[in-house]
Amino acid sequence: MVKILIVEDSRSQSGMIVNEVRSRGNLIPVLAESFSQAKELLEANPETFFAALLDINLPDAPHGEIVDLVMEHGIASIVFTGEFSDELRERMLAKRVVDYVIKENASSIVHVVSQVERLIRNQGIKVLVVDDSRSARKMIVAMLKIHKFQTVEAENGVMAMEVLAQNPDVLLVITDYNMPHMDGFELTRKIRRLYTKNQIAIIGLSSHGNNLLSARFLKRGANDFITKPCLTEEFFVRVTQNIEIIEYIHALKDAAIKDFLTGLPNRRHFMDVGEKWHAHAVNATITLIAGTMDIDFFKKVNDTYGHEAGDTVLKKVSALIKPLVDGTDLVARVGGEEFSVLLVNKSSETAYAWFEQLRTRIQAMEIPYNDHVLRVTISIGVCQTPGESLAEMLDIADKRLYDAKRSGRNRVSVAN
Ligand code: GH3
Ligand code: MG
Ligand code: MG
Repeated sequence: MVKILIVEDSRSQSGMIVNEVRSRGNLIPVLAESFSQAKELLEANPETFFAALLDINLPDAPHGEIVDLVMEHGIASIVFTGEFSDELRERMLAKRVVDYVIKENASSIVHVVSQVERLIRNQGIKVLVVDDSRSARKMIVAMLKIHKFQTVEAENGVMAMEVLAQNPDVLLVITDYNMPHMDGFELTRKIRRLYTKNQIAIIGLSSHGNNLLSARFLKRGANDFITKPCLTEEFFVRVTQNIEIIEYIHALKDAAIKDFLTGLPNRRHFMDVGEKWHAHAVNATITLIAGTMDIDFFKKVNDTYGHEAGDTVLKKVSALIKPLVDGTDLVARVGGEEFSVLLVNKSSETAYAWFEQLRTRIQAMEIPYNDHVLRVTISIGVCQTPGESLAEMLDIADKRLYDAKRSGRNRVSVAN
């Protein structure tokens, strides 16, 4: 949970802001209704606030004094203002606020709170800044820091490639064109041999009046370009847009391999990765043991307590299974109330103990739902011979599962 300081004297405004902040789930709003109240709060709780949303026009501080106060405490600030002027914009950006937003309607509040969430995510995003001019580099780094990004630096393309090799989690590269040893074009081309536009975004810096530079950056695989000198606002819009596109693609890829309800991998992912393991196991000395598990009389849960209760059971069972599966093992929700696992390099004794443990833990689990406590059991079929394919292993496991069901459920049945 992250605490957000809100300084706003108007009750109607502050009510809306507090509600919006609270609605995000991971944010705790703390309201001050005047400059002096904010001062007290900050003195009593230094270092507790992640960010602040500030009305710069307060009865006891009408000229934006609140911004200086909050910034002195090193808190990222987003400023709300009733009216807008060039002079105000200059003054606020000079104070290094994250952004200034004009109070217009409810949607500007939604926007501001989304920006806070953006800042939280930015803390986990690494940006590589490449420029031979130290001062230019420091300026960009300082801007990125305002928005809470992690940064690494390089002074030419050669060094940038080294930094990238040491920091494979870099998501965005901002690079100058003209640098000794390796220029920005060559760097862009080299990065593109290793990473697609969906893995690492590249923004080329080109100087004013040289449109050709931007075009050439784009042709070599840059996602975007920024013309120097550029407006702070434009800089952040482009940085954020490029990062959000990559995040969106990651989310799509993630969704494609995950089951929506339980967050476990889905059948497709299980078969894709599992068949690779299988191909590997045939040539090497890897042992594979496959298991298929099915919740007993699950239909009864739905029929008695409703579909939502059934969903709750599925989530709880999945949450129980997930931490039991280590590093190389695979697990998936392969059907309604059916799960599969592939245990890698485990002896049959260890595997049997693993399945037994899972069975007894599920049997012992109490699942609160409304005023009820739900309990379920699970039947498991296990195949220990690699056969021709993973699909064949799962077929055999399914047959043993059927045996387990027929002979009374809540048991593990192993094929020999
Ligand atoms: P058995 O012990 O023989 O496995 O009996 P069962 O009732 O568990 O098996 P059956 O195949 O008859 O019923 C499975 C039920 O699972 C039927 C289906 O409506 C329900 N189901 C499948 N997917 C979901 C889901 O995502 N959510 C909920 N709540 N129910 C689901
Ligand atoms: Mg079932
Ligand atoms: Mg079933």
